Amino acid sequence: MPAGNSMLISHESEIQDSLICETIDFLSFNGSLANQSVHEQVDMGPRTPGSNGSHSLRMYLLDHLRGWDLTFQNHQYKELNITNVEAVYNSGMGNIVVLMAHYDTRQLADSVLSNNESPPDGANDGASGVAALLELGRIIPELGLNHEIRLVFTDAEDQGNLDESKNVTSIPWATGSQRWVENLSQTEIDGISSLIVLDMIGDKDLDFGKTIPANNTLWDITQRLAKLMGLVESETDCDGELGEPVFDISDVNYITDDHVPPHNVGIPVMDIIDIRYGSEEVLSGHWHTENDTIDKVSAESLEKVGKLVELGLRLGMWSGSNSTSNDSNSNSSLSSNDPISDTSIENEENTYRLMIGLFVFLFILISSLAGAWVIFAEKQGEV
Ligand SMILES: [Zn+2]
Repeated sequence: MPAGNSMLISHESEIQDSLICETIDFLSFNGSLANQSVHEQVDMGPRTPGSNGSHSLRMYLLDHLRGWDLTFQNHQYKELNITNVEAVYNSGMGNIVVLMAHYDTRQLADSVLSNNESPPDGANDGASGVAALLELGRIIPELGLNHEIRLVFTDAEDQGNLDESKNVTSIPWATGSQRWVENLSQTEIDGISSLIVLDMIGDKDLDFGKTIPANNTLWDITQRLAKLMGLVESETDCDGELGEPVFDISDVNYITDDHVPPHNVGIPVMDIIDIRYGSEEVLSGHWHTENDTIDKVSAESLEKVGKLVELGLRLGMWSGSNSTSNDSNSNSSLSSNDPISDTSIENEENTYRLMIGLFVFLFILISSLAGAWVIFAEKQGEV
């Protein structure tokens, strides 16, 4: 039985701000190491599906995730070889928290703002999310967590809407994530308390809104943690100082990304993605251009996001959740997998069983009393 939304909310409400603030002092996510990883990934060249760079990236993951159980999951879509990489820690223990990032880079820098269409470096769109997952992968074994964690590095997130006349292969957005979801058993789906996607999180000028489809409770938790970390404008942090404008969940945008396939099977998801990369406009600026380069990414930005995820992990805020308070305007097919429904059905069943038990008990009691009275009356008659 997965943890219900009530468990997430009650767990979150049990956690005092003072505990969150104490925990912030212990966070160990290192933004400099993550930024170094962005450089190392970009040095491998484009990580387009099936490329040499893509292969190098997978060997790099294998090398950096010692102590984790890694599996490579191969798929074919048109002529593209797609390989998702899944790293598991604390296998089989408690709820599952999934942290996901795409490692592929786009085959063409085909934004209208591009000057040339050679494959982009993907410093932010690709490398930043992978770098954060790797740094979390380094520190998670030291956190003493009591539940399973999966780091999922998806291939083929970013190959949608390509112009095939330019000698590239266009496949749907988030194909790797879609394949990963299709490989899950229902038991695994039910056991995932939260799935957090990190994508384009390294921009020097971070600007996160709320993305949908999503699990609202996960965003509420994120906003609370961000506020106390000083990442919400005009809100006071743990030190009583006003925060900077990094998170603003009142700004809501629908985004197609790796979170959509897991959302569609009922997994509570949240996509942390900065869709204003080098521009105030949504999905403009450096996005899908030759300007998605290492100089646009900073250690400080990677550390802000990495520490927020680490904070939620340390406080059990991601594992206490299997919430489904999803947005009504999202493409959801949640009803069949809704853990809240499961919980309420089970409660109804328990109440029903209790009533039957009580009825049977009263029936036996009344029958016994009636029988005893008949015997007594007969004996009276005999006398
Ligand atoms: Zn992209």
